[in-house]
Amino acid sequence: FLDIKQISKRFGTHTVVHDIDISIERGEFVTFLGPSGCGKTTVLRMIAGFEAPTTGAIHVGGHDITQQSPQKRGIGIVFQNYALFPNLNVEQNIGFGLKVRKLPRHDIAAKVAEVMKLVELTGKEAHYPHELSGGQRQRVALARALVVEPKILLLDEPLSALDARIRKNLREQIRDIQRRLQLTTVFVTHDQEEALTLSDRIYVMNQGRVEQHGSAEEIYTRPETEFVARFMGNYN
Ligand code: ATP
Repeated sequence: FLDIKQISKRFGTHTVVHDIDISIERGEFVTFLGPSGCGKTTVLRMIAGFEAPTTGAIHVGGHDITQQSPQKRGIGIVFQNYALFPNLNVEQNIGFGLKVRKLPRHDIAAKVAEVMKLVELTGKEAHYPHELSGGQRQRVALARALVVEPKILLLDEPLSALDARIRKNLREQIRDIQRRLQLTTVFVTHDQEEALTLSDRIYVMNQGRVEQHGSAEEIYTRPETEFVARFMGNYN
């Protein structure tokens, strides 16, 4: 469904992504796992359309979207640092993308109420971001990504800024919602435990290349390279 074909990315003379191939089925939850600087965020940004690949192509549902603007791609994205609008309340933050699309006001209200229920934020409509906990803010960010009914959900380290208990909670909630909506999801993390517990499949990345891809069990029990063995070995 999401096919990344031989993409590379160069910044100046520095190549940060080398000819990567990635193929994700509809409804799959796939994780890009690797240490800081391995290029996982850059790949995610190319899928979202925030960066153009230097070479290669990205296809969604058989269509080449490499040249398409981010708005047209039907992609929802959640960042590590929430990126909420501080001067808009929860309801306005979540409805923003629909307002931009000029949907009638009562349609916006109905869709916002529906996703607020899904992420268990009902009752917080009039709150502002600074009045919310980190976990609640990230649920607002998730609701904002989901409200436009994206074809693909991209999650860039969405749990990293949260403390351990909330992280585990939200992790399970994200997976539950993803399963319910059968939403094709790409999750970026440097955390082995998150990757192993959440993913249908994992792509382990190192220095702009894919070291290995497979199910969590395959990656954990049968690492194919020394890098994967060492990287996964840090997790017990
Ligand atoms: P992190 O988790 O630390 O963000 P990452 O695996 O997501 O790491 P990227 O953010 O994709 O890695 O960065 C990969 C490499 O590309 C890094 O060496 C980074 O410095 C470089 N890079 C990313 N964006 C740019 C840019 N706009 N200009 C120049 N170099 C960049």
